[in-house]
Amino acid sequence: MASFQSINSFSHQYQGSINFPQSKRIDLTRRRTLILTCERKNEFDFDQNKSGDTKKKNLRILIAGGGIGGLVFALAAKKRGYDVKVFERDLSAIRGEGNHRGPIQLLSSALAVLESIDVTVAKQVMDAGCVTGDRINGLADGVTGDWFVKLDLLNPAIRRGLPVTRVICRMALQDILVNAVGDDIVKNKSKVVDFVEESNKVRVILENGQHYEGDLLIGADGIWSKVRSRLFGAKDPSYSSYTCYSGLTEFVPPYIDSVGYRVFLGLDQYFVASDVGNGKMQWYAFHKEAPMNAGTDDGVKKKRLLELFGNWCGDVTTLIAETPEAMILHRDIYDRDMLYRWGAGLVTLLGDAAHPMQPNLGQGGCMAIEDCYSLILELDKITKLGSGDYEPKDIISALRRYEWRRIPRVSIVHNMSRMTSKILSSYKPYVKIELGLFSFLPSKSIAHPAIPAARMIVQTFLPIYLNWMIAGTGFW
Ligand SMILES: Cc1cc2nc3c(=O)[nH]c(=O)nc-3n(C[C@H](O)[C@H](O)[C@H](O)COP(=O)(O)OP(=O)(O)OC[C@H]3O[C@@H](n4cnc5c(N)ncnc54)[C@H](O)[C@@H]3O)c2cc1C
Repeated sequence: MASFQSINSFSHQYQGSINFPQSKRIDLTRRRTLILTCERKNEFDFDQNKSGDTKKKNLRILIAGGGIGGLVFALAAKKRGYDVKVFERDLSAIRGEGNHRGPIQLLSSALAVLESIDVTVAKQVMDAGCVTGDRINGLADGVTGDWFVKLDLLNPAIRRGLPVTRVICRMALQDILVNAVGDDIVKNKSKVVDFVEESNKVRVILENGQHYEGDLLIGADGIWSKVRSRLFGAKDPSYSSYTCYSGLTEFVPPYIDSVGYRVFLGLDQYFVASDVGNGKMQWYAFHKEAPMNAGTDDGVKKKRLLELFGNWCGDVTTLIAETPEAMILHRDIYDRDMLYRWGAGLVTLLGDAAHPMQPNLGQGGCMAIEDCYSLILELDKITKLGSGDYEPKDIISALRRYEWRRIPRVSIVHNMSRMTSKILSSYKPYVKIELGLFSFLPSKSIAHPAIPAARMIVQTFLPIYLNWMIAGTGFW
């Protein structure tokens, strides 16, 4: 299995880029469950810790939030034998999208991180996912459906020996992670309402009045994070200017074997469609409008979408038309300004609690998984390299190193996500020419002169960005 060099060969410290062993085999005939198999070298036996020196202090880790970030970090901590507890407000919510919660795209880098954390769990996730990275993905004109830019997600992954990008149902992902972490560690119906840092330890306080003590606290409690607001003060998130409809439909389009996902571009709106396997398609329709509209259009969402996207190409309108009203969800999209400090003392943040971003690049969950990897490596430095007699000051510096290591990369992705929503919804392939004095003549539409230049810029820079995204967890 592919694995991160840094997690396996601890003494090298991490180097921020994924450095995989050479031997790899890719079976392109198993498209929907494609797994890259690479030789796994120098694997650190995490279980050594459990049976090892009983005099060693066992790190006690408290995690607020059992979403993707909280659960993946709990898994990494459990593998090392740390004493870990996850406090989750409501496992059944999965970010509020109930039973129809759509799937999540996991990019090669996030999948490789997962492999390094737990090869068995990563295999379960990959088997449950649907590979999209081996087909054509990219941007297309919303009205004509013509390709604007095609993206290659397969070859950069193969070159580095990484798993290929795929999508997985969120509930399947949560099931796999909760099973692997265990019910004894994940405490459901446990809402964190506060924490107190005392000398050398930190205590979380739950809504039900229970208190738990640990050596450090990780706030992985999402965009509305309680831990974040306790650390840095309560602040409203920023409205992205976009509302988002999402739909899941049992419909297999004729292009299923050649197209993974497509982003259809338009003016003040864009539409993302992806194969999610098992004969289903997921789509997201983004439209620029004032917030607080969610809930106001119950029962007429499909009608509204067919009005907004009615003159778009058949690949878009068919997906909307083929989706039952009950499978269409509506939410306003928020993010927060980038924080350049994620923690204080024995407390830090991870995932959306630290850096909620707009979803158009499908990167928030991947960034949360990468955070887990960087954080666990920093904790390894104080607990495995030394005698185990670490001091609170060692934990504090490990947390600050993790933050400094992640902030540059995450801030690029965060800014790119904001910029991308502007770019995706500024697509105007034609301009109207008014004929001035001859206004009695009908105005003419001509091809927008900026479009070829825009295409060239996107074709040049998007692959560079994608390569960088796939290549590692750090800035370099
Ligand atoms: C429409 C849409 C599509 C997306 N698509 C993708 C994609 O394709 N790929 C991708 O990588 N990302 C995607 N994202 C982003 C991704 O969903 C998030 O970045 C990811 O879920 C963040 O994980 P997290 O664990 O940090 O936070 P969350 O998933 O939000 O988990 C936080 C958890 O904390 C719990 N919690 C909250 N408060 C408390 C409390 N006080 N006490 C205890 N528990 C608490 C919550 O119940 C939740 O379970 C998308 C987002 C949206 C909105």
